[in-house]
Amino acid sequence: MREHPLVCFPSKVTVARPARFASVRWLGDKRTMVVHDLDAAVPGCGIDQLVASLRAASFGPDSPVEARNRGYRPCRHCCRHCGAR
Ligand SMILES: [Zn+2]
Repeated sequence: MREHPLVCFPSKVTVARPARFASVRWLGDKRTMVVHDLDAAVPGCGIDQLVASLRAASFGPDSPVEARNRGYRPCRHCCRHCGAR
């Protein structure tokens, strides 16, 4: 049983998907012009802070290609397999 909430993150952990982006996979950061893959996001992506900053952008269509067309770069933490390149 795990009773200690402050254990280290295992190497493969996904962050909780923000409620207002529940149907979105690709989330852009308008501050850094980086796009994240929410299916593969890690704590290092700072998704929580991104959403809290109100600088998050979703795309239509919801694809890494669309994100790149708008000038976003793939996040090096989570977009290794995003197929945008
Ligand atoms: Zn990321």
